[in-house]
Amino acid sequence: MRGGRGASPFGLGGRGATSEAGRPFSPKPCCPALLAIVLLAFLTTALAQSWQTTRAPGFVLQTASAEDARHLSEVFGILQRTRRDLIVAGYHPPALVRVVVHPNLKSYTTATRLPWFVLSAANRIKNQIDSQRLRVLLERKSLERTLRHELFHLAQPEGWPRWKAEGMAMRFAGDQPSARPLENISEAELERLLTNPPNQETLNRAMATAFLWVGRLQTSNRGSEVEGSRP
Ligand SMILES: [Zn+2]
Repeated sequence: MRGGRGASPFGLGGRGATSEAGRPFSPKPCCPALLAIVLLAFLTTALAQSWQTTRAPGFVLQTASAEDARHLSEVFGILQRTRRDLIVAGYHPPALVRVVVHPNLKSYTTATRLPWFVLSAANRIKNQIDSQRLRVLLERKSLERTLRHELFHLAQPEGWPRWKAEGMAMRFAGDQPSARPLENISEAELERLLTNPPNQETLNRAMATAFLWVGRLQTSNRGSEVEGSRP
């Protein structure tokens, strides 16, 4: 899971939706049945997405917009490099990973049931990464870090607490969280906020906390290794 930064760029509340209240009604009568058919036809066309599937060794990439499809080779390059880096680091990425780049926010939130401010997610059962439009990631200069982060989640060991998984994924991806870590927070509360973040700021602070805790864990592990190596 990766959160976004800054204000929502996704037009929450409906792009271009404007209230019709206050406008004078047309005096012409309108057949409700015809209107329903026209609306249904419009919605069917709007919701129909022609998914394009592209394959490379170890990965299947699904896109549904020409704009995203332009970045296919870049995405595959990042995924292949990340897989190699994970293996070198001792992790076990799945043999086949599906990456689904959603063409709009509605498609993404419907598929993942995540809020708009979570930009991407990894499903360890399906070995699948779901992402918002690539342009959203490219504008934040976070395409590579996002893919590395999510692929890490698919390769991480079973049974890690959520904070450890997020902190380790951020460190593997090269993230440097700028949010202020949460203070005096219990592990259970941090787990709850990471699993079900109420808003973007809290998610960013919870992720920064996970990053900090993993840093401390790694420092103490190094300390005990040095301790253990003493005669
Ligand atoms: Zn994550």
